[in-house]
Amino acid sequence: MSDILVVGSVALDSVKTTAGKSVEALGGSATYFALSASYFTGVALVGVVGEDFPSEHRGTLERRGVDLAGLKAAKGKTFRWAGSYGKDASVAKTLATDLNVFKTFKPVLSEAQRKMPVVFLANIDPELQSEVLAQMKGPALVACDTMNYWIDSKPEAIKKLLAKVDVFFSNDQEAMKLTGAPNALQAAEVISSWGPTIVVVKKGEHGAFMKVGGKFYVFPAFPLARIKDPTGAGDTFAGGFLGYLASTSSFKDLSELKRAMAYGTTMASFNVEDFSTKNIEALDREAIDERFHDFAERMSVLRLEAGVKGRRAVPA
Ligand code: AMP
Repeated sequence: MSDILVVGSVALDSVKTTAGKSVEALGGSATYFALSASYFTGVALVGVVGEDFPSEHRGTLERRGVDLAGLKAAKGKTFRWAGSYGKDASVAKTLATDLNVFKTFKPVLSEAQRKMPVVFLANIDPELQSEVLAQMKGPALVACDTMNYWIDSKPEAIKKLLAKVDVFFSNDQEAMKLTGAPNALQAAEVISSWGPTIVVVKKGEHGAFMKVGGKFYVFPAFPLARIKDPTGAGDTFAGGFLGYLASTSSFKDLSELKRAMAYGTTMASFNVEDFSTKNIEALDREAIDERFHDFAERMSVLRLEAGVKGRRAVPA
């Protein structure tokens, strides 16, 4: 049974970082998200690829149990993205975005897909994200992500979409750009006033924070002295966060939301250790939980001092 429906890009990425490069490797927002969430729950993917999409990439997703009934093969070329990172790995420089088959993609969900309880509208044209959401039948949780490309070209469509979203993921630069706010905390306040009750803002190696119930909860990144490729870290984070949350019984339990942040952090840390999806396609839950506990342990002094015990509800 799939719990999460994801719509987003499935891509061939060409990426250059200070550690090397990859050429036309498996990428895309829906790909990273689905692989990451697949360690926690069932995932069904909605997207499109071209005739040139290698069957081995399909196999990578299938081996993780991702339901690809909604991955259409269309005439034309697969979406391609090219980017590079300098010393500051949190800033991606987009060199090329070729939408190709995504230009004309019109997703039509099956009856089963419409009824799925959690939907993640991964980074893709916000109008496409809205089209998918409009077809859903009362999902329990709606989450989305976006990026500079769409903030520059379709900011109003993003704002319209956010009115119907529960959880919004963004990096700090994108959140400030979208809102015009001078810092990431204020940006999160503005975004939550537009709709999402949970706003997650990622700050690369400086960690991430979650705004929920009028409070900010701050998490460090998992400390890694060397990373190879930050591409997809945001989507992998969202996959860990939502995959874990979908596997719990409550989307409003503050302790579970904090664990979701820690699982998001854990999954993103695995992703950046190698190029493309290499690291996150071959993990197991034991390795994930080991790093999750390691991460929690490193933060345990803070938890003890705060005297936080048991489960607490999200403040109203
Ligand atoms: P992240 O590093 O988490 O922001 O995600 C990077 C992934 O997003 C890459 O694998 C790209 O293929 C994909 N991507 C880049 N630009 C776009 C875009 N404009 N729309 C959709 N997906 C994109």
